[in-house]
Amino acid sequence: MEQFTVRTKNRTEFIDITAEVGNVLRKTGIENGVCYVYTPHTTAAITINENADPSVSHDINTQLNSIAPFGNRYAHREGNADAHIKSTLVGCSESVFVKNGTMALGTWQGIFFCEFDGPRSRTVYVKVIAG
Ligand code: ZN
Repeated sequence: MEQFTVRTKNRTEFIDITAEVGNVLRKTGIENGVCYVYTPHTTAAITINENADPSVSHDINTQLNSIAPFGNRYAHREGNADAHIKSTLVGCSESVFVKNGTMALGTWQGIFFCEFDGPRSRTVYVKVIAG
């Protein structure tokens, strides 16, 4: 298993990590299989969506903020309950099929690290399994 660090700059932020995951995949030399991308944090997430137009991730982030707004009306007293909720809604992992040495992403798809309680230094794990 490989890992890399994502340093976020804002409280909520979507960061395209497709290139970093692709670098890990190339290092493995695996031609066909499954690539798992996982983040071990309770206030962050991993998602796959359009990375061609940045307004898409902006809209997703904005709508998540309206579903779980920042504030103190939650039972969790740490002040980041909204971030925990967003993390659960989006999920902490994705899997991508590997075909002929590259990720079988659609033309407009990219892998995003989603920060919901930044800025922080975050870890992303990548595991590629041949098959
Ligand atoms: Zn918390």
